Amino acid sequence: MLLSSGRGKAVASACPVCCESTKDLRSHMGVHILRAARGVPDDVVNPLTGPLPCGFCGESDNPDCALTLKNMTRGMRWETKCPRKEPFKYGSAMKGSNTRPCRNVPIVCKLCVHQGRDTDWRPAIWRYNLETHLDQQHPEYAHPGKPAGVLLPHDMYYDTLVLTAAEEKKAGVPARPEFTFIQGKENTPQATSSARTQKRKTDAQMFATATSSSKRARH
Ligand SMILES: [Zn+2]
Ligand SMILES: [Zn+2]
Ligand SMILES: [Zn+2]
Repeated sequence: MLLSSGRGKAVASACPVCCESTKDLRSHMGVHILRAARGVPDDVVNPLTGPLPCGFCGESDNPDCALTLKNMTRGMRWETKCPRKEPFKYGSAMKGSNTRPCRNVPIVCKLCVHQGRDTDWRPAIWRYNLETHLDQQHPEYAHPGKPAGVLLPHDMYYDTLVLTAAEEKKAGVPARPEFTFIQGKENTPQATSSARTQKRKTDAQMFATATSSSKRARH
């Protein structure tokens, strides 16, 4: 398979779920995954059936689709043996844009206990599968789809769980009520640690501001 460097494949391929042609399978599949996760009808040939669909091929039970993630000085590196994987720029996909709002990227669950440091390869999950992962692995926690339970760490919500209005709109899923089951910033264990943590928090706050202003802009 011939792959171009940055923006997905040069040639379109058929989506295994709806059979339509796409040049950006990750963004395209993200719409199917978000609809399935929110229970919004998706009129397709091969609907997603498994609980944790792969962000490229949509399968839940292919061990080759397991993800790993590593934090490098020049950005995040991800790995999978998924037969449908396509290259994409992690940093811009994580942010999303008006033309490519889908932010379904591999992330490391902050509640799982991971061996080693974040500069080692660690097991990762797709962002849109995080609520199902919480239901399965951390059922005591609340999340936006289940507003009841233990409060979520502040940075986990803002870094990995909250969706932008643009990506919800693109997938045709309704916006959710404001989620408030979040720990106060002062309660997070990292609150007094390094300057790096402080920077991450600032990023999260900026993102929160951007999200709420973009939500306002819709009305
Ligand atoms: Zn499709
Ligand atoms: Zn896959
Ligand atoms: Zn976890």
